Amino acid sequence: MNRYGLDIWGDENFIIDKNGEVCINNKTKPSILSIVRQIRLQGIKGPLLLRFPHLLKKQIDKLYSHFHSAKEEFKYKGKFHAVFPLKVNQYPELLTNLVEIGKPYGYGLEAGSKAELLLAMAYNSLGSPITINGFKDEELINVAFIASQMGHNVTITIEGLSELLDIINTAKKSPEVIPNIGIRIKLHSAGIGIWAKSGGIDSKFGLTSTELLKAVSILKRENLIEHFTMIHFHIGSQITDINPVKKALREAGNIYAELRKMGANNLKSINLGGGLAIEYSQHKNTLYRNYSLGEYANDVTFLLKSIANQKKEPEPDIFVESGRYICASHGVLVAPVLELFSQEYTEKRLLLKDKNPPLIAELYDLYKSINPKNALEYLHDGIDHMESLLTLFDLGYIDLQDRSNTEILVHLIIKKAVKLLSSENYNALLDIKERVQERYLVNFSIFQSLPDFWGIKQNFPVMPLNHLDKLPTRSASLWDITCDSDGEIDFDMENPLFLHDVNLLEEDYFLGFFLVGAYQEVLGMKHNLFTHPTEATIELDKNGYKISNLLEAQSISDIFEDMDYDINEIKHTLKTRISNSSFINEDKKVNIMQEISTHLNDNSYLKTVYSKGKEQ
Ligand SMILES: *Cc1c(COP(=O)(O)O)cnc(C)c1O
Repeated sequence: MNRYGLDIWGDENFIIDKNGEVCINNKTKPSILSIVRQIRLQGIKGPLLLRFPHLLKKQIDKLYSHFHSAKEEFKYKGKFHAVFPLKVNQYPELLTNLVEIGKPYGYGLEAGSKAELLLAMAYNSLGSPITINGFKDEELINVAFIASQMGHNVTITIEGLSELLDIINTAKKSPEVIPNIGIRIKLHSAGIGIWAKSGGIDSKFGLTSTELLKAVSILKRENLIEHFTMIHFHIGSQITDINPVKKALREAGNIYAELRKMGANNLKSINLGGGLAIEYSQHKNTLYRNYSLGEYANDVTFLLKSIANQKKEPEPDIFVESGRYICASHGVLVAPVLELFSQEYTEKRLLLKDKNPPLIAELYDLYKSINPKNALEYLHDGIDHMESLLTLFDLGYIDLQDRSNTEILVHLIIKKAVKLLSSENYNALLDIKERVQERYLVNFSIFQSLPDFWGIKQNFPVMPLNHLDKLPTRSASLWDITCDSDGEIDFDMENPLFLHDVNLLEEDYFLGFFLVGAYQEVLGMKHNLFTHPTEATIELDKNGYKISNLLEAQSISDIFEDMDYDINEIKHTLKTRISNSSFINEDKKVNIMQEISTHLNDNSYLKTVYSKGKEQ
């Protein structure tokens, strides 16, 4: 059985039941497919983004409980706090659930822009921390002051000295409530991986030690030093190796102690930013991280304790801003397979002539006489013959009908060989995987739903939602429905994906893409005007599950409006053109206009369903 690496990336969130379906490992353990069918009954046919709040809760609970245990173990005296960085996912269905789940812990929010700050001010539980990072202007700082006046517990982290001057000016204008001030430090130890630019001495953000000294003296001069409470660093996202984290902590811990000795008496927190990695890999040989949350929490607490004790300073409060770790698992994308590339090649389409070129006659013989013993050999011969026949076509020796017969015969041979080998000699089949690839056309957009695959080749676990009790026989490449050649997940020998040979006329076949809850939704782009897919929140209870917040993908007219088209003008022009057309019968015009208006109100994903009778 192929488990698609579920034991590596799944964190026990999903199981495969005895019918070979992927089920949610919680409460009554419903299958994902049953939920998908339920939603599709309402006429929704495109890709679906399912949100599972219980997985969000699981991650938040884990974060706090691991740090709590580490604190107990090392008798750590500082406090632990966490905030959710909004840039990772600002969608309302995620945010409102997350705030609710985090309330008992005092889980706060991190904002990296004015827009995110305004969201935080509206949704954060009063009293839970808000941290503000990123580049700031005076306006943003002013809004941060307003947030404090509203009763929020705000820390503005400055990225450069000029921001400090803006804070000083604003504090003079509204001295009633002054937010906490944090300073982002530039570390000489950098992160690793694709996001390393966030840390390190030449990083975009933070103050060098020289600038830090200057900042402290300015804060003292302006009598604001008691508001300076936090130092902050963030060495990158998805930190795959624990060592850079430890290095950064040693550096930051010593900076903390030194600053206190220089008179920063109220400095009491170290904010480690995000970076906590999750495991995306489906294969043991390509793991994405070498540590667990438990190890991370222990290392952080232990190191900070040792430094504080050594330098005789109080053990600092620890802040983390993990985003990916918190919300990646809560999002599962389900996309229907629309087509298998070879499904067109049926025996019915074969139009052999009375007299065929000899190689085609041979192909036909191979097809008819292939059996379990000769399958591999015949398969190789078939593929060789095809290559020769395509050359003959280029040279003008065979015609288009011959070429079509060649394609059909070779695909029939591959199909038959794959079937024979899968029961007789599966390992031989795995050996020839590259040569017998099948292309699966999937109703989704990689640009919209897996932008990190497109941008930085981040792999996401993918598996079919059923048939997991059967061996998958086809090495698969996945094609999305954009007309961009980058909209493809190639078959990758390092990270091979095998799928089932299904007949879509008889049944649906859905792929699940997992761990897509962090960054993908907000980085997704409307390439070809495919928008954020239809989403739903799934809450499990003892009777099964409840589907709530079913939000259909944005309609075409909404997209047009987002792009600042005048939708009335578009409607009017289409109407006029239909009405003026001499090709359309007068009595049909009204219906056609209605049809167009239905399309405008619908989303642009494909509605294709072959197995109509089987939808239930
Ligand atoms: C992006 C970012 C985070 C979140 O990082 P993850 O790797 O998703 O945990 C946290 N803090 C800051 C300052 C960030 O820029």
